[in-house]
Amino acid sequence: MLIDLHTHSTASDGTTPPAELVRQARDEGLDVIALTDHDTTAGWAAAAGALPAGLSLVRGAEISCVRDGISLHLLAYLFDPEDAALTGKLQEMRDSRVRRGERMSQLLEAAGTGVTWARVRELAGGTVGRPHVAQALIEQGLVATVSEAFSNQWIGADGPYYVAKMELDVLDAVRLVTGAGGVAVFAHPAASKRGRTVGDDVLADMAAAGLAGVEVDHVDHGEQARVHLRGLAAELGLLMTGSSDFHGTNKTVRLAAYTTAQEQYERLVAQATSGTGVLTA
Ligand code: AMP
Ligand code: FE
Ligand code: FE
Ligand code: ZN
Repeated sequence: MLIDLHTHSTASDGTTPPAELVRQARDEGLDVIALTDHDTTAGWAAAAGALPAGLSLVRGAEISCVRDGISLHLLAYLFDPEDAALTGKLQEMRDSRVRRGERMSQLLEAAGTGVTWARVRELAGGTVGRPHVAQALIEQGLVATVSEAFSNQWIGADGPYYVAKMELDVLDAVRLVTGAGGVAVFAHPAASKRGRTVGDDVLADMAAAGLAGVEVDHVDHGEQARVHLRGLAAELGLLMTGSSDFHGTNKTVRLAAYTTAQEQYERLVAQATSGTGVLTA
């Protein structure tokens, strides 16, 4: 079984519409795909409606979190999309992203780049993120790639046009996800090229709060980081996933570039209590 548990669509900062994403997943030979757009479930219905025969859909989201002043991402799977506490927080975060996207666009416009909030908002089909601002910078010919826009010259965390967004304390987020009957997995814990990463003590605290697993195989993890994470996961009784974190053309990684072992996937599904099951066509 080929299982990819972390992908993005146009509902957040991917470039592939959810319906196309599931078709592409099947064409790539995947048996299971999880849709995990940033801070939203907006792509779930379109993905479910287009699900090809032979592909299972795990509905999820990737939640923007923080701990010790460090940004981190939490994958949430199979939670109740009507849970008021969790969906309320996701809405707050999307609202905050709109205000922050507007602010970043204004700063860029004031600097004479030609980037406008009207254009950035147009480029975002759902959850607004920095990759949409990056697209606007590409259109203006100021950078060649999304990745280049994330430098400290532009909208990287140390860049002059960077504005922070709302983030949930990661322990609260783990509790919210499990409270909504979902399963929480720490996304790319060692993706150090994006900025600082949290220490092992935070992973232990997350495990104590109800974390189910940790994403080990990820394009931003080197071999040493993977070995270390496998050891920690075994120690803490956490399951291990591998996933592409596919973003369409906003990143270079391909769908199914990294995958999750079937027994780990089954462990994950078994921990959901919401009744929001895995969908099949
Ligand atoms: P935001 O959540 O709006 O702060 O934007 C962060 C998102 O931008 C991440 O989820 C990634 O999808 C993307 N991203 C972060 N760093 C890079 C990079 N160096 N190159 C391309 N995309 C990136
Ligand atoms: Fe993203
Ligand atoms: Fe992420
Ligand atoms: Zn992601």
